Amino acid sequence: MNGLSRLRVSDLRIGTPLKGATWFRAQHAFRIFVSLIFLFVLFHEPRFLYGDGWLEIKDKHFVVFYNLSQDESLARSVLRKAEDYYDKIAYRVGYQRYSDFWTWDDRVKIMIFSDQKTYQKKTGQPAWSLGYSTRDSYLFKSRSIVTYRQQGEFVDGLLPHEISHLVLKDLIGFDRKIPVWFDEGVAQLQEAKKKEDAYVLMKNLVSQGQYVKFDALMKGDIRGETDARKIMIFYAQSLVMVDFLIKEYGNDAFIYLCRELRQGKTMEDAFKTAYSSIGSIGEFEKKWLREFGQ
Ligand SMILES: [Zn+2]
Repeated sequence: MNGLSRLRVSDLRIGTPLKGATWFRAQHAFRIFVSLIFLFVLFHEPRFLYGDGWLEIKDKHFVVFYNLSQDESLARSVLRKAEDYYDKIAYRVGYQRYSDFWTWDDRVKIMIFSDQKTYQKKTGQPAWSLGYSTRDSYLFKSRSIVTYRQQGEFVDGLLPHEISHLVLKDLIGFDRKIPVWFDEGVAQLQEAKKKEDAYVLMKNLVSQGQYVKFDALMKGDIRGETDARKIMIFYAQSLVMVDFLIKEYGNDAFIYLCRELRQGKTMEDAFKTAYSSIGSIGEFEKKWLREFGQ
């Protein structure tokens, strides 16, 4: 028993003077309580982060916040699509088997600023940023996707991309490192038209012997890279690798791979178990190259 749990409601009754250590503990408990309420409000209430005037609509897994009443139809379409993307990605990686995440107060918040200028000013994001996702605090599990009113790119690209990142992070574990190629490959699966373009690019590159060797990819992290061409190849190859696995070996094996990663295995070990018919990452590379006639 610690000091906090010994405090009874009757100790805090108005008119009952508290003495010495008990009074100190009561004050201490009250301060902790106030701080927790403040943090709860801060992480749960976007209006405290980004200012007043937010309108909201919600469904099972998402709450969409928007600034202007004329953005309501956009907000509704974003909400509908977000729920749809969620169902598809959850099915793909086996997320719905564990429990029904992201419901009630745990819903993911999608913030749509009315214009790019306000978005940049309030979030501090660079001019090229179309949006981003955060998973602010493990304690409060506040997940948000933040963006602004724009044409096409968000709803068909960034939205499914960021939802996939959040689902995968929750599935595999907040504190586990997900290989970047795998994370980005899964995130791009539902982006409109991305797959076709990636296959065309990789077919062309592989025929010239230009692709990222798989053992380098397993250890690589593209996040510090500045060479635009390398970044483009990395993303396209990651998508084609993940799509190839699902297309050739089915969704159950892919879910098995995700489950092994969730249990803390390295990608190499998880891969060997889930894809025993392939055997190793090296064999995967050979089979993948054959897809492109190599
Ligand atoms: Zn990404």
